[in-house]
Amino acid sequence: MKTDQDLIIVGGGGAGLSAAQYGARGNLRTLLLEELSSGGQALLINELENYPGFPDPVSGFDFSQKMEDQARRFGAQIENATVSCIRREDDHFVLETDKGKLTTLAVILATGAKHRELGIPGEAEFGGKGVSYCATCDGPFFKGKRMLVVGGGDAACDEAMYLANLAQSVLMIHRRDKFRAQKSLAARTLANPKIQVRFNTELRRIAGDKVVRTVHLFDNQANREYTEEVSAVFIFIGSDPKSGLVKDMGVRLDDVGYVETNHKMETGIPGLYAVGDVRASPFRQLVVAAGEGAVAAHVAGQYIDEVRGEAY
Ligand code: NAP
Repeated sequence: MKTDQDLIIVGGGGAGLSAAQYGARGNLRTLLLEELSSGGQALLINELENYPGFPDPVSGFDFSQKMEDQARRFGAQIENATVSCIRREDDHFVLETDKGKLTTLAVILATGAKHRELGIPGEAEFGGKGVSYCATCDGPFFKGKRMLVVGGGDAACDEAMYLANLAQSVLMIHRRDKFRAQKSLAARTLANPKIQVRFNTELRRIAGDKVVRTVHLFDNQANREYTEEVSAVFIFIGSDPKSGLVKDMGVRLDDVGYVETNHKMETGIPGLYAVGDVRASPFRQLVVAAGEGAVAAHVAGQYIDEVRGEAY
């Protein structure tokens, strides 16, 4: 059957954009579908400082724009659309989108992950009024104020350091007695004079009037609740994979819902690959996502040659 595309990539973060570039450069008719704007979670990075080849920090937005330009230069089509369903029919896939139905020989799932919420009183109520999940987006609104950061991973440490440049002071709490973040990042966070770290501490409630005023903290060693005054609460407690589109297709998911693949990014369903933050991976980094996108596009190209009887 003649399909609309050879390769459709769902999701336009670093993994998807890299796959689009490699797919198009490999002469595949390549379409990338993104719901919002390209970049994914990289758009939240104020200063990307660890992508090889960029010795001077670059904003996640500028970096993503360059990736998109590069993919388009090789002929990838990048369009806005929401995919509601992916199904396999015979030797191809059908994607239902809000812009209509599309057919393709291969699909790369690059839908990423969504930030987690604590689910505590006040969190939803003060969303946009002091509660945030993006330091770059909202930090500047609270310049010179006292801010709370919740979390103990790389994101919490990175963002606490960014916020410390803006804030009067940052109070950072983590539920355990040590950080999960990479050692060097954790050490830099602990050494920052504008960040006060309290381990074994949980956020129980966010309170205020029109905006955030106080937080109720719980010291889980002393078994004591107390309040602190802050103007903003930044929550970085990890993310959940956006794997809903493939969960009923028979792909393997880990216990949290990340898609399991082999080292070729193959999901077990011929022609379906998963890359980036939606994939079960021990190290979620932009450079890893970009590498995974390249591998998947390359392997998809080989698969398409086989389907067409053109493998050599
Ligand atoms: P993460 O590594 O999963 O860390 C999440 C943190 O939030 C953990 O410290 C966890 O505590 C805590 N947490 C989870 N649920 C919680 C809850 N309900 N209440 C309180 N705390 C909770 O997530 P991440 O920091 O967003 O990083 C995600 C991935 O992106 C990682 O692979 C990371 O390496 C990568 N990343 C890298 C960089 C960088 O290289 N600069 C920057 C950002 C992200 P526990 O420790 O107790 O589990």
